[in-house]
Amino acid sequence: MVKIINTKTGHNIKDRDEDWDIINSLETIFRKKRKYVIKMPKPGSPVITALSGGLDSVANTVVLIEKFGLEVYPFFIKRNQSNLKWEIEATDYYNKLFKKRYPNLYHDVLKIDVETPGQTYKNMLRATKNLLDDLELRKRNTYPARNPVMFLTGMEYGYALQSKGIFPKTVFVAEHSADVSVHGSLTLMRIMNLLFCWLTNDWEWQFISIPIEKEFDNCYGKEVMVKYCAEHGIPLEHTRSCPDKDKIQCGKCEMNCFDRRMAFKLAGVEDKTKYRFPMPAKKPLR
Ligand SMILES: [Zn+2]
Repeated sequence: MVKIINTKTGHNIKDRDEDWDIINSLETIFRKKRKYVIKMPKPGSPVITALSGGLDSVANTVVLIEKFGLEVYPFFIKRNQSNLKWEIEATDYYNKLFKKRYPNLYHDVLKIDVETPGQTYKNMLRATKNLLDDLELRKRNTYPARNPVMFLTGMEYGYALQSKGIFPKTVFVAEHSADVSVHGSLTLMRIMNLLFCWLTNDWEWQFISIPIEKEFDNCYGKEVMVKYCAEHGIPLEHTRSCPDKDKIQCGKCEMNCFDRRMAFKLAGVEDKTKYRFPMPAKKPLR
C-alpha cells in the first residue's frame, strides 16, 4: 500500500484562508460531544462519497476503497450544470469500472436531481458576482449555497439509507490544498459537520475531505491523487474537469483544466486526456 504523503509543494493548512476562531470553537464542541474531532471510520464501514466524474472525486473514491477499505455509497448531483452530459458520461465510466474492480466495497452511484443554484435567479447571481465592491470575495463565491446544498444532500442520502439497515455516518468530499474557494475550506467542513450532527441529533456524523483534514496531518493537492491513481492502475483520462459544454475539454480554464494539467506535470504522470487547446504557459485568471 502506498502511503499518501503531505504535498511536496509546501502547502500547509495553517496558510490557507481559514477562520480559526470558527474551527477552534467547533472543535471544542465536537470534543465535548463525542470526545474526538474527526476519526477515520474502521475498514468495512459504510460511507457516503461525492462522485462528480471529476478527477478529485474519482481519485478520492479509489483512496477510500484501496487505502482505507471502506464500503462506498457514491452520489452524483444533477444540479443543472452546463457540462451535465459529460459529467454523467465520466461518472458512468468510473461507476462501471469500480463495480467490476471492487464488487464488495463499491455500490452503484445514486444520481440525485437537486437544482442548485435555482435557474430562476442564477443570472442575478452572475450579475452580483460582477459588483465592484469587495471584488475578491465575490469572485471566489459566485454561488454561495451551491456546494453546501450538495453536501447536505449527501448527508440526507446517507440518513435515508438507514431505512435499509445501512448506517453510514461519514460523508466524504475531495477538496484539496490548492482549492482556494470558500467551499474548499476546512472552516466549511467543520460548519457542515456541525449541521449534519445537529439536524440528525446524532453526533457520530462526520464530514471529511482527506486531502485537507488536519486531524490526519494532511494538506495535499491534486498531484498526490494523480500519482496515487497511476500507482494503482486507475486511468484518469476519462474524468471530466472542464465546465464547458463541448465534449472535448478546453485544456486552459483556471481552476479546472489548467490545474488538472498542472497536477499531471507535478505528479510526473503522462496526461492522456484530449484537450481543445494547448496548456497556457501561465495560469489564466478569471
Ligand atoms: Zn476547461
